[in-house]
Amino acid sequence: MRIFDKAILGSFAIALLAMGTPTTADAFPPASVTGIDLPTVLTLDDQARRFAYLIAQEAAEQSQDKQAADAVATSRKSLKKLRTIVLDPGHGGENLGALGVVQIQEKYLTLELAYRLRKELQQKYPDARVILTRYWDQSLSLSDRVHFANRMGADIFLSLHYNAAPHQHAIGFETYFLAADEVTPGKQEKKGKPIATSQNVVSGMEQRGLGVEEGVYNDALLTLKRDLARENQNRESGLLAETIQQNLVKRIDSTDRGVKQANFGVLRGALMPAVVVESGFLTHPVEGEKVAGEKHRENTVSALVSAIEDFDQRLAERAAK
Ligand SMILES: [Zn+2]
Repeated sequence: MRIFDKAILGSFAIALLAMGTPTTADAFPPASVTGIDLPTVLTLDDQARRFAYLIAQEAAEQSQDKQAADAVATSRKSLKKLRTIVLDPGHGGENLGALGVVQIQEKYLTLELAYRLRKELQQKYPDARVILTRYWDQSLSLSDRVHFANRMGADIFLSLHYNAAPHQHAIGFETYFLAADEVTPGKQEKKGKPIATSQNVVSGMEQRGLGVEEGVYNDALLTLKRDLARENQNRESGLLAETIQQNLVKRIDSTDRGVKQANFGVLRGALMPAVVVESGFLTHPVEGEKVAGEKHRENTVSALVSAIEDFDQRLAERAAK
């Protein structure tokens, strides 16, 4: 295909997307009936970037300028497993977040951090979709953020925050994933027929041999599958949290407060590896000044980019086994 044709095709595809037509390759959320669907519009930006790259690539190939072709080729990097990354700038709108020694509300700092991280990831990985849960000073509920990530088919979800304490001594960075107790809420045996009435049931699998009604068996199997999926998601969230914390240790000169588990609303119900990153204390007299500065933000961004690369690599290695 000639470059010209491809460019036309590109803009045609973009126009189609703008009308909310889902493509087969990527299940974009359809445009809402009420008007512009934000996720679709935001995805257009990624599509346009990708087309621009493809066009540059073809131009370089056809010009037979080996140097130019090499330059384009090396500019392209792809993550192996991660395709859609959702970044969640904590708080927003009426929800101000913490206020520390520097009089800047947390909601602005998290937004700034998310924008920087997005820009860095997009420049490095033209193929990746990097989407924010909010792009301006907007109120969003915790469950809205998670549902948005689920709806976008996110491969990972990072909720970005800065910490606060009632006293001035707390310092350092920490990464959270969902507490295990919250992962499988129905873990305790359910009351009622199947398990209580059948004898010698060791596991869900044996119920079939015992002639338990099909419907009951299916329910048990579905529950088992759902629990396994949740446990897997939780394990991967733990791995992501660990990877992030390791990279923060390398790049931020402060106290390593470790990986923690908590029952955070913004993590509940996430279908993908999901974490909360607290990259420093706004309330510490020294760190509070630092986190509002450029250097700390740069270091946090570079730690998070490497963490995402490392996590992607770990997923790829595991898949190859
Ligand atoms: Zn926060």
